[in-house]
Amino acid sequence: MLRGSCMCGKVKYELRGDPIVTYYCHCGKCRKQSGSSFATNVIFRKEHLVFVEGEESISRWNSSPGKHRYFCSGCGSPLYSHGENRKHIVSVRAGTLTDPLPLAPSVHAFVAHKANWVEITDDLPQHPEYFA
Ligand SMILES: [Zn+2]
Ligand SMILES: [Zn+2]
Repeated sequence: MLRGSCMCGKVKYELRGDPIVTYYCHCGKCRKQSGSSFATNVIFRKEHLVFVEGEESISRWNSSPGKHRYFCSGCGSPLYSHGENRKHIVSVRAGTLTDPLPLAPSVHAFVAHKANWVEITDDLPQHPEYFA
């Protein structure tokens, strides 16, 4: 089990299962939402994500058709995203984990959209769009 929270601590969650894949997301929406160069996301089965505190503080934004991004309405921390086309999984923001992440990133996604200042220097596979 892994624990995580938003920055202000109002929202606390647990991941009651194993991570499926950790990836770097270079899409423009993750970049805008994070205000950073790219996002590090971890995929879990949806039923493994359980909110233990503050679920009522979560807001969501429909970032593209059928896709929602969930964040803390108090502090703005992005928490996870969920898409109608991949209903059974959630993509959790690795940076909101409190516990160490047991699965290192294995792939770069949406590399076609990466910020022009980002230079990928590792040997992980790079996908121009999503990897699955
Ligand atoms: Zn918060
Ligand atoms: Zn993204």
